[in-house]
Amino acid sequence: MKCLICQAASNTVHAAGEWSEVKCSAGCGRYKVSANLVAKMKFKNEFFDIERTRRWLEMARNDDPVPLISTYDYFVSLLHRDTEERSVIAPIRSRQPLVAD
Ligand SMILES: [Zn+2]
Repeated sequence: MKCLICQAASNTVHAAGEWSEVKCSAGCGRYKVSANLVAKMKFKNEFFDIERTRRWLEMARNDDPVPLISTYDYFVSLLHRDTEERSVIAPIRSRQPLVAD
């Protein structure tokens, strides 16, 4: 299949029900994307902003070597609705585990 970000030929490492893992050698690297998000983007005919998404992945890899792009991340950080960049990248959702008392 094609890379969901840059459309280059890539390998789907794993396609589970809820997400697909893609390995793109054209520059996006390895990432997971939620199946729900892919469906939403197809429906709306939207595409990832390549530069923004790659920068986001780079940052997200500090937390997780194979970051999952969820619908939340897309709408908060990656949607290229306005041309004016408010900040370079919106802060990544805190991934701290919930600690039970
Ligand atoms: Zn790619």
